[in-house]
Amino acid sequence: MKTLERDVVIIGAGPSGLSAARRLKAAGLSVAVLEARDRVGGRTWTDTIDGAMLEIGGQWISPDQTVLASLVEELGLETFERYRAGESVYISADGTRSTYTGDMFPVGERTEQEMLKLIGILDQLAAETDPAAPWKHPRARELDTISFSSWLRGQSDDEEACNNIGLFVAGGMLTKPAHAFSALQAVLMAASAGSFSHLVDEDFILDRRVAGGMQQVSERMAADLGDDVLLSNPVRFLHWPGEDGTAHDGVTAVADNVTVHARYAVMAVPPNLYSRVSFDPPLPRRQHQMHQHQSLGLVIKVHAVYPTPFWRDKGLSGTCFGAGELVQEVYDNTNHQDPRGTLVGFVSDEKADAMFKLSAEDRRRAILSSIAAFLGEEALSPEVYYESDWGSEEWTRGAYAASYDLGGLHRYGPDQLEPVGPIHWSCSDLAAEGYQHVDGAVRMGLLTADRILAAASGGTSGSAFADAATAPGQG
Ligand SMILES: Cc1cc2nc3c(=O)[nH]c(=O)nc-3n(C[C@H](O)[C@H](O)[C@H](O)COP(=O)(O)OP(=O)(O)OC[C@H]3O[C@@H](n4cnc5c(N)ncnc54)[C@H](O)[C@@H]3O)c2cc1C
Repeated sequence: MKTLERDVVIIGAGPSGLSAARRLKAAGLSVAVLEARDRVGGRTWTDTIDGAMLEIGGQWISPDQTVLASLVEELGLETFERYRAGESVYISADGTRSTYTGDMFPVGERTEQEMLKLIGILDQLAAETDPAAPWKHPRARELDTISFSSWLRGQSDDEEACNNIGLFVAGGMLTKPAHAFSALQAVLMAASAGSFSHLVDEDFILDRRVAGGMQQVSERMAADLGDDVLLSNPVRFLHWPGEDGTAHDGVTAVADNVTVHARYAVMAVPPNLYSRVSFDPPLPRRQHQMHQHQSLGLVIKVHAVYPTPFWRDKGLSGTCFGAGELVQEVYDNTNHQDPRGTLVGFVSDEKADAMFKLSAEDRRRAILSSIAAFLGEEALSPEVYYESDWGSEEWTRGAYAASYDLGGLHRYGPDQLEPVGPIHWSCSDLAAEGYQHVDGAVRMGLLTADRILAAASGGTSGSAFADAATAPGQG
């Protein structure tokens, strides 16, 4: 077993951990990044399946995600716009298919008015909410103790409007049923993206992709870090000084092939995985409780590659919505300068549960039939078909990211970023701007690095965080 001495040990080589490591190293601190998988990138993963390059995990960048956009540029990567020319397809609650252009689904006049009303209310709430502290909203407790589903129905009696607006956060973002998270959690999602209107506008939220794949962001950061990134090293134990600062000296991370002694540790993994590490001594009661109230959603990201983007010949953009459909959203996901056409679709939460009860063959048939209902029979016969199944990935266990259960956000959120002695927390699941997204992961990595740098230099930032970070046992 190799033993290393470093200033900071980072657990997890996703975009958050690698961003933190890169900034810390640039500032002169020594680092080691321990990664459980045999690759970097975490929930971003670009791979070639049956000859087709697929974005198995995170891929899109929106214009507000400026920190990620700057990093992409700094790393010498190029981006391209999602194909969006032509008409979109909508399937209504009664199964009627229609095409449309613009942002608003082709619904009845009353449903449209109700959707606009709900968007207006959510935009107002988002504007009043600091994504870094949604629990400070004057109505935080009220909004956090009602499910998003019930809250929507309290604002409107139009079921189609409620389902359509629910789709943008429930199936579309948190990948949980709208009864499983609070209205405050939905408002955080909107505030984090700048407004609820941004979530509704797929041309904004799903604007650009990285040519060659999003995983390159992590791969290029890891290349800068060289031997300081150690793959296939799941961290099993983390020894830390304890609440009174006496149990151990600094932190010691014990992974399968390496042990790292450091002054600080960054847990750059999603909160649902914190308990995979045995902390010695155990974490304080508050963290034990808090971490049990954060869970990942579930979505199947479906990829279907065709000889040509056949839908474009019919004047269709490939963008499709149907809140009641098995595949609730479909997009043209054709790779940069690729003559073949790729569609991506999403099967979320309870619909994903139902799909996983089927055989692989029946699931494929059901999913492709759902896509064909939007775009035509040609969709039934792709050259390449692949389902991203993050729920069965040991080092993720769901998709896209974590959210609190009902009431958890205002109850625990204020403490979620507080370091525990020398242990810091960094991932997209805890981000303000870019929450649940790669941009948020990078922002969190940089913020965490800055806070460790401030603490290491004597806590000159004066923030509560920095003060806490210089708590006993910091060395
Ligand atoms: C299907 C899917 C689609 C998505 N689409 C988008 C999108 O279009 N745009 C977007 O911006 N975001 C998207 N996301 C979300 C985005 O990918 C994540 O928010 C982002 O990758 C989170 O980065 P992170 O570094 O915080 O965590 P992760 O990427 O999860 O990285 C954490 C790392 O920690 C490692 N790890 C876990 N436990 C241990 C341990 N004990 N020891 C060592 N290592 C450990 C993991 O293996 C992993 O590499 C998507 C995610 C998924 C799954």
